[in-house]
Amino acid sequence: MVKSYDVLVAGAGPAGAAAAAVLAGRGLSVALLDRAEHPRPKLCGGLLTAKSVDALARIFGLGLADLTRRGGLFHQTPQYLFLHRGRELLRGAAAEPFRFVDRPAFDALLTAVAVARGAEYLPGRTVEACDAAAGLVRLRGGGELAARFVIGADGANSVTRRALAPADLERGLWRRNLAAAIEVELPVGSGPGQFPREVLAPELHVGSPAAGYGWVFPGPRGPKVGICGLRRPDRDGRDFGALFLDFLLLLGVAEPEGVALHGHPLPYGNALARPASGRLLLAGDAGGFVEPLFGEGIFYALATGAHAASGVLHGLKHGEAAAAAEYERLLARTVRPELVWSDRLRWLLFWAMQNIGAGPIRGFVKSAPAALAEMVHGRRSFRLLLGKTWEWGEGVGPGLAGIPGGTAD
Ligand SMILES: Cc1cc2nc3c(=O)[nH]c(=O)nc-3n(C[C@H](O)[C@H](O)[C@H](O)COP(=O)(O)OP(=O)(O)OC[C@H]3O[C@@H](n4cnc5c(N)ncnc54)[C@H](O)[C@@H]3O)c2cc1C
Repeated sequence: MVKSYDVLVAGAGPAGAAAAAVLAGRGLSVALLDRAEHPRPKLCGGLLTAKSVDALARIFGLGLADLTRRGGLFHQTPQYLFLHRGRELLRGAAAEPFRFVDRPAFDALLTAVAVARGAEYLPGRTVEACDAAAGLVRLRGGGELAARFVIGADGANSVTRRALAPADLERGLWRRNLAAAIEVELPVGSGPGQFPREVLAPELHVGSPAAGYGWVFPGPRGPKVGICGLRRPDRDGRDFGALFLDFLLLLGVAEPEGVALHGHPLPYGNALARPASGRLLLAGDAGGFVEPLFGEGIFYALATGAHAASGVLHGLKHGEAAAAAEYERLLARTVRPELVWSDRLRWLLFWAMQNIGAGPIRGFVKSAPAALAEMVHGRRSFRLLLGKTWEWGEGVGPGLAGIPGGTAD
């Protein structure tokens, strides 16, 4: 007999945990399944913006003390640096700090909140196929689970996404805008493959790859160095791995060829126009919801996971079509304008850097450094730097329980 739930959430990253925490908090029977078991590795810079911290309090009832004690929060600073091909463009301080989490601990904490609210956590279950019309998920090794709604939060290589109608999959757009990302965490030192200095403030490096950027972030065990970009041929035709080695050399890493590289795809401008079909709603990377200028994905995973949950709450009362409509309404009011306008801004900057040089980006970052940081933190919109407030749907709000003994400050 097929076990049945009100809602099945596939993938226990930030998007899936947010959806499960909201829905279990409303007393629904929720299964949160994942092919891995927490704490599991996740390639990520772990940068949390101010809007992410707000979202964690609102969706999970988690405060900074909880994040520090159990959520892998290890560093915070208002300082940041912008560089173009190694040359400093701007050294600034934001009004609010940038915070850094270690993703395995962070994701484990979010799942623990969903479980504390009543979700059933099913690690070690790999989704092999999904039937969006029937609300069925087939698992590797046999077995099926059924639900009134399925939330697909299984990341950039989503299997649940394949259950969308072919037209809604937007395959060409997805392939064109799926970025490659490489990130390594290096020990500080002067030897081969070591990073030559301590890193206390996040650095954003532009100029290479042509349609992307590089970063150096404080990491829990040593600096994290990464690049992300669309696979467009660079002017000099170098491949992505070679560009990363160039970047390590530019940063002063000796003999970078010996560094073991780790890569993961990043949706980078391919948010699906119709991320819901039948009983299925896609959230986070699975739906392509990553901000396409700086590649911020954690906030958008939290927001779309919570919005999908609100859509489901609506759909349980008014039917499948209402779930999709409510999800889209919330996306259109909050997330989509940011993705559309950051996409416009990035193409302008990429074009200017390739054709005019670093001047325009220097002018841009120097003209309004405070506004730039407020834009990243979500206090201003990517849309013409207008003030931005984030709206949340049904089921999301203050007063929800966090982890037992936790404190939402
Ligand atoms: C190199 C790199 C650096 C990044 N740095 C940052 C950063 O500093 N700040 C930021 O905000 N964003 C960053 N991002 C983006 C961010 O990591 C993602 O956008 C975010 O993790 C998306 O969350 P998610 O819940 O949608 O997916 P994920 O976090 O990928 O979670 C998906 C979950 O689904 C599970 N899963 C996958 N397939 C299956 C299956 N078939 N069956 C069952 N379970 C499955 C996985 O095990 C995983 O637990 C970075 C991304 C990369 C690649």
